[in-house]
Amino acid sequence: MRKSSPQQEAIIIGGGFYGAAIAIYLAKQRGLKHIVLIEREPALMMRASYNNQARVHNGYHYPRSFTTAYRSRINLPRFVRDWPQVVKQDFVKLYAIARRNSKVTAKQFQRFCRDIGASILPADPALRALFEPRLIEDVFLVEEYAFDTTKLSSWAERELRESGVEIRYESRVVEISRGAEAPLEIVTESKFGVRDSISCSFVFNCTYSGLNQFKGEFSGVKAELKQEITEMALMQMPSALNGLGITVMDGPFFSLMPFPARGLHTLSHVRYTPHLNWNDVEGLDPYEKLKQYDRATRVDRMVRDVARYIPSLQSATYTDSLFEVKTVLVKNEGDDGRPIFFEKHQSLPGCYSILGGKIDNIYDVLETLDTEDLSVKPTRDMQE
Ligand SMILES: Cc1cc2nc3c(=O)[nH]c(=O)nc-3n(C[C@H](O)[C@H](O)[C@H](O)COP(=O)(O)OP(=O)(O)OC[C@H]3O[C@@H](n4cnc5c(N)ncnc54)[C@H](O)[C@@H]3O)c2cc1C
Repeated sequence: MRKSSPQQEAIIIGGGFYGAAIAIYLAKQRGLKHIVLIEREPALMMRASYNNQARVHNGYHYPRSFTTAYRSRINLPRFVRDWPQVVKQDFVKLYAIARRNSKVTAKQFQRFCRDIGASILPADPALRALFEPRLIEDVFLVEEYAFDTTKLSSWAERELRESGVEIRYESRVVEISRGAEAPLEIVTESKFGVRDSISCSFVFNCTYSGLNQFKGEFSGVKAELKQEITEMALMQMPSALNGLGITVMDGPFFSLMPFPARGLHTLSHVRYTPHLNWNDVEGLDPYEKLKQYDRATRVDRMVRDVARYIPSLQSATYTDSLFEVKTVLVKNEGDDGRPIFFEKHQSLPGCYSILGGKIDNIYDVLETLDTEDLSVKPTRDMQE
């Protein structure tokens, strides 16, 4: 069964942070009036925008990618200004440098922080005492925050409603093509298998792991993408670690970060968080692959290794795990950089694919969109 919906100015595919923020931007900053956001889940921000480490990056994480570190330094203050209600600042953030197998030394890390203008102080003895000195070279007090996706999602719902954006949940875009009535046409499929086609002037593909999964005339994105099934363990920290966020650098190491949406901490470990990976191709739907994955937790191995460095972690309590597909650009595998990916599809004028990389990169995306001509040429259908 197939029906046809009224023509729209813009279709946003994906109701994660990027799709929602772009829909709001188009309505509020660019004056577009008929916007539909299509999301396959039953609510906004249920995928990567929820299942992540909740870190508002401030550069520290990227000693191997100066550009990403530098952009984070510029974007963090903007994020805190624009979403004060979602940012958690009331915790102590430590970066520790491992003695062995680290890709940076403590001296190099300090120099790097100075170069990007990020605050770094020696941690006081009580905080250092949490770490095993034979394995940790140095411990620093830094400024880094966490975000609460539940609050971000409430913000998005409210703004989308006020902006008059129509949201269709539990519906998937399956095709993108050139249109007869308008420049583009998409086909959606509801969870009951009902198909609908919508003509529109612009399509914003904000599907993160799903960027390549469309039929029709969409021929995929130019960048090579790596898909990775990841696990972050949610833990109740013992009192010694409760008001802290800790990252041990840089290589085969780990992080404990507050996860404000659940009042817990995530524990992630470079060796155990990635469960499996593959190079993205059309037809191998990452969401289906995750659905079929058995999700056997590796929390025991994470805790065993991390407790060597931070013995008090041994008494943390495991609750459950966040499993998600992480999508990264293959070109950044070596340096761990997180630039945005922004493609304007030449063969489908008006169609854009966007991968944010990390939450604060929204500013880089919106600045790029600022330079795009998004004027809508009225068609007969729209004037009626
Ligand atoms: C394990 C992990 C840890 C991370 N840690 C951090 C961190 O600490 N800090 C940070 O800034 N970033 C982090 N990130 C990255 C961050 O989560 C992402 O950059 C951000 O959430 C991407 O937002 P998005 O809207 O593009 O993706 P998503 O939130 O995944 O939104 C895409 C949406 O598109 C929908 N969709 C997909 N295909 C279709 C379709 N065909 N039709 C309709 N809907 C569709 C999906 O259901 C989904 O809701 C992490 C990511 C992961 C996975």
